[in-house]
Amino acid sequence: MSVDALFKLPDHYCALQAEARNLADSVRGIAAEADEAGRVHPGMRSALAASGLVTVVVPARFGGRFERVDSLAATVVREVLAGVSGHLDSMFAMQGIGTFALSAAGAEDVQARWLPAVAKTEAIAALALTEPDVGSDLRAISTTVHERGGRLVLHGHKSFITNAGDADLYTVLAREGDGYSLVLVPAGTPGLSTASPHQIIAPHVLGDVVLDGVEVGTDHRVGAAGEGFRLVLATLAAFRVSVAGAAVGVAEAALREAVAHCTGREQFGVPLARLGSVPEHLAMAWTELEMARSLTYRAAAATAGDPLASLWLSSMAKVGATEMAGRVVDRAVQAAGRFGLTRGSNLERLYREARPMRIYEGSTEVILDSLARQLIKKVTADDH
Ligand SMILES: Cc1cc2nc3c(=O)[nH]c(=O)nc-3n(C[C@H](O)[C@H](O)[C@H](O)COP(=O)(O)OP(=O)(O)OC[C@H]3O[C@@H](n4cnc5c(N)ncnc54)[C@H](O)[C@@H]3O)c2cc1C
Repeated sequence: MSVDALFKLPDHYCALQAEARNLADSVRGIAAEADEAGRVHPGMRSALAASGLVTVVVPARFGGRFERVDSLAATVVREVLAGVSGHLDSMFAMQGIGTFALSAAGAEDVQARWLPAVAKTEAIAALALTEPDVGSDLRAISTTVHERGGRLVLHGHKSFITNAGDADLYTVLAREGDGYSLVLVPAGTPGLSTASPHQIIAPHVLGDVVLDGVEVGTDHRVGAAGEGFRLVLATLAAFRVSVAGAAVGVAEAALREAVAHCTGREQFGVPLARLGSVPEHLAMAWTELEMARSLTYRAAAATAGDPLASLWLSSMAKVGATEMAGRVVDRAVQAAGRFGLTRGSNLERLYREARPMRIYEGSTEVILDSLARQLIKKVTADDH
C-alpha cells in the first residue's frame, strides 16, 4: 500500500477542506471584530449559513450531508476555521455538539422542528452541562427535572454555556429521580433566562442559563429518562477529536505568523529566523504540529467508524493537540517579541484562543487520569 493511500486524506475530505478555506477566506475581514463581539456576530452567522458547512454536523435525514455525523469531516473543517476565527469555529462546532443527542435519540416531532433549522443555521444550538459549582464532576449537578401533569419541569442554573443568550435551543443535563436526563428547552420558554456574568480571555460567546420552573412537553426529553449520561458520552465521543482539529489549526496559524515575522525582521544584521535558538524553536513547533496532526487525523478517522470504541484515541488526540497548541502559540509569541503581545494582533488572538482548549470538553488532567487507568488495565490484561 502506498504512503499516500495510508496517510493522505481521501479526496472528499480535501474537497471539504477547500470549502472550509473558501468560507474562512470570506470572513477574514470581520474575524477580529467577531472574535471580540461577545455575541453571535450576524455577518459571521450569515457567512456560515451561506457556506452550507453546518450540514456536515447534522445527519442526512434532517438535512445534513452524511448519513451520520462524520467526525473526520468535522475535524478537518474545524482545523481550517479555527486558524482564522475562533468565533466561527465555535459556531460551527456547537451546531453539532448542541444537537448530537437530539439527532440520536430525540422525539420525531422535536427533531423535525429543530434539526433542519440547525443544519441551515436558522437556529443556533447550545449544550448546557456545567453549573456554577460543578465542572468536571458532572454527576454532582443540582439542576433537576421532574414530570408534573404530563409536562417536564426544570429548575437550575447552568454556567459558562457557549452561545447562551443567542441560542434558540438548549440541550440541558438535569437530575431526574436517581438518574440524569437530557431535556431540550427552546429559548423563550417562560422561566428560562440568560445572563453574561463572566468575560473570559478567549474570543468566545458564553453565558449563564437560569431555569426557574421551566416547563416543556415530555416529548422534549431527549432519549429515555435516565439516559442523559449515555447521550453526553456519545456526544463527547463524536466531537472531542474535533477540538484536536481546531487546536492544530490554531497552532499552524501561529507558526505561520511566527515564520513571517522572523523572516521579515532583522536583529544584529540577520533575520530573526537565523538567530540563536529561534530556528530551533520554529522547527520544533513544526515537528510537534505535524505529530499532533497525524494523531488527530488517525483518531478522527477511527472515531468516524466507531466513536465509543475510539474514545481513548480521540482523548489522546485532544490532549496531545491542545497541549501542543499551547506550546506552539507560546513559542510563536516569544519569537515575535513585543509584537506578539500587541492587543488586536493575530498572534495575541491565537494565544487567547488556544488557552481554553485545554480546559473544555474534558480538561487535560481529567482525560489523562482516565487514560492512565485504561493503560494500566490494558497492560495488566496483556501480561496475563
Ligand atoms: C470557552 C469555554 C466554553 C465552554 N462551553 C461550555 C458549554 O457550551 N457547555 C457546558 O456545559 N460547559 C462549557 N464550558 C465549561 C467547561 O466544560 C468546564 O470549564 C470544564 O468542564 C472544566 O470544569 P471547571 O472549569 O469547573 O474546572 P474544575 O472541574 O473545577 O477543574 C479545575 C482543575 O482541576 C482539575 N481536575 C478536576 N477534576 C480532576 C480529576 N478528577 N483529576 C485530576 N484533575 C482534576 C482540572 O483538570 C482543572 O485543571 C466551557 C468552558 C470554557 C472555558
